[in-house]
Amino acid sequence: MSESMLEITLRVMDKRRKEITDCPINQKLVREYFEEGCLCVLNGDIHCPPDQPDDVANVFYMMWCGCSRHYDSTLRYNGNDLR
Ligand SMILES: [Zn+2]
Repeated sequence: MSESMLEITLRVMDKRRKEITDCPINQKLVREYFEEGCLCVLNGDIHCPPDQPDDVANVFYMMWCGCSRHYDSTLRYNGNDLR
């Protein structure tokens, strides 16, 4: 499951990258924010391999995190990214 989520993330990466590069927050801090407090990550519902770079991981978390840790629910994946 995590593999296909990552594959989808990588496919929409170019489109989503802008959302985080426009964000002034440090990429590493965003990643830590999710990995330290996201219930989806802590419960194992979503998993981004640790060897993925921060920008990929952050797009992944913004697409797949479904808990209250997400700071902007409008950035969640809804299927429209692939159209
Ligand atoms: Zn979450």
